[in-house]
Amino acid sequence: MDTILEETKFIMNKYHIKANKALGQNFLISENVVQTIVDGSQIEKEDLVIEIGPGLGTLTKFLLEKAKRVICIELDKRMISILKDRFLLYKNFKILSQDVLKVNLRELIEEEKKDTEVKNVKIVANLPYYITTPIIMKLLEEELPLESITVMIQKEVADRLIAIPGEKETGSITYSVYYYAQAQDILEVPNDSFIPEPEVTSKVIKLNIRKEPPVKVEKKEIMFRIIKCAFMQRRKTLLNALVNTKVFIDKEEGIQILEKLGIDINIRPENLRLDDYANISNLLFHF
Ligand code: SAM
Repeated sequence: MDTILEETKFIMNKYHIKANKALGQNFLISENVVQTIVDGSQIEKEDLVIEIGPGLGTLTKFLLEKAKRVICIELDKRMISILKDRFLLYKNFKILSQDVLKVNLRELIEEEKKDTEVKNVKIVANLPYYITTPIIMKLLEEELPLESITVMIQKEVADRLIAIPGEKETGSITYSVYYYAQAQDILEVPNDSFIPEPEVTSKVIKLNIRKEPPVKVEKKEIMFRIIKCAFMQRRKTLLNALVNTKVFIDKEEGIQILEKLGIDINIRPENLRLDDYANISNLLFHF
């Protein structure tokens, strides 16, 4: 039997733990998957790692061996006492008993950088699937000083996040992720790599945070609002979607803008590249 499976069963028995479905608890039991996540995150000795949802500490154990400092953020109080017991002897371990969506991560990172000489900050997590998107968007939109985000998420969401804008499987979130990061597909993970087994297939992806955005846009908030409006009606043409959502005052204005930018007036929202949306946004800003 795998060591990780044995350890997980042992800890669950010892502390009388039953996975809480509402908190997205699917504990990793595959050595191979754990090793792939740890290797994929490319942790160096001087790094600060923030782990979201450490659960029983399966990944944490490996992260603690590699990083200068590991801060875990966990909502389930039962896990907090298990983790405190399990990693009592590790001086580089810290645990916050909080909802990650409510944590001021910028402040946390700044404090940590003041106290310890950490170099890069990396996020590593087997995320709770019920809040995958809000967590990833928080990490990206707050423009935190992060180097990378290595996460296990649902395959269906992963494929949308790592798609190239303008190509297949995109959603409005594809454009946001592409703006902030270069995405890497790391591993597809079968359901029997967890207990209990999730109902969906999973994937490990890595988002390498860009130093500079890939497009020049005067007001990125306007660009993202246009993208959201376009994708609200993705079956329509871009022109109709943007007229219906009042981004363009009327069809005439829309046609004028699209023609000026050399964009086909019959194009659908998912066929535009990010720089097309940046150009529409820049033009509208001055219109
Ligand atoms: N890292 C463990 C593993 O790989 O076995 C557990 C991963 S499990 C998929 C997700 C974890 O996130 C659970 O431990 C759950 O309690 C925790 N969690 C759920 N919602 C959370 C939230 N809002 N903030 C922080 N942790 C949360």
